Amino acid sequence: MHPLPYEIYAIRYATVTRKHAGENFIGADPHESGGTMDYFCWLLRNAERSYVVDTGFTADVGGKRGRQFLRCPSEGLAALGLPASEVRDVIITHLHYDHIGNFALFPQARFHLQDREMAYATGRHMAGPVLSGAYEVEDITAMVREVYRGRVRFYDGDATLAPGLSLHHVGGHTDGLQIVRVFTRLGWMVLASDATHYYANMEEARPFPIVYNVGAMVQGWQRCRELADQPQYVIPGHDPAVLMRYPAAHAGTEGWIARLDCEPAG
Ligand SMILES: [Zn+2]
Repeated sequence: MHPLPYEIYAIRYATVTRKHAGENFIGADPHESGGTMDYFCWLLRNAERSYVVDTGFTADVGGKRGRQFLRCPSEGLAALGLPASEVRDVIITHLHYDHIGNFALFPQARFHLQDREMAYATGRHMAGPVLSGAYEVEDITAMVREVYRGRVRFYDGDATLAPGLSLHHVGGHTDGLQIVRVFTRLGWMVLASDATHYYANMEEARPFPIVYNVGAMVQGWQRCRELADQPQYVIPGHDPAVLMRYPAAHAGTEGWIARLDCEPAG
């Protein structure tokens, strides 16, 4: 028997223009332009449960890092009928600044996180600039406080959260990155988050340059494909093409919120 399918929504909350393709692909031609990077949070929901995947950065952090903040992720959730204040479960794919701000907006949430991501974000690799640059120490200490408040659920590898919903550790981009497998009306889909920032990272086997372990990143692409029923059901973490391939959630959310449990266009 199939589990109850989930609807999946991508909420675009920020964007940035990349200077050159080398910011997105290891070994890119220096003459190739970089295009745009979009920033997303996601909502999974069915009649029984709802899960938010990642919580995005704040306007302050985005401004500090030169990103164009469009709308707070909580506005997207509200437009989908779920106030952030009522969210019970937040899956954190990894602890980079663009995936874990806005804690105060989720006072009731439990955070679902890999053991290895917390160890990585608080360990030896953060003692220098190479791998710590995409973390915000205030976000990490906020998450440590949530641990002590009993609001963090830790996982060591793969875990089923609910029927039709599971977490899978892949590492690569960060040591503790996890992806989310979701059962939908189309079958199994995968929210890859930063296992593949763009469709092209995975499809053209061109790794993203912010990376802890390139080998694990390459294996992670394979894992994404194995877990999804179709290769096109793997959803990248930052690709503006997502909003072109999928329909708006409802009228008034064009260019902002897309429904992903649909056959992609193009
Ligand atoms: Zn990211």
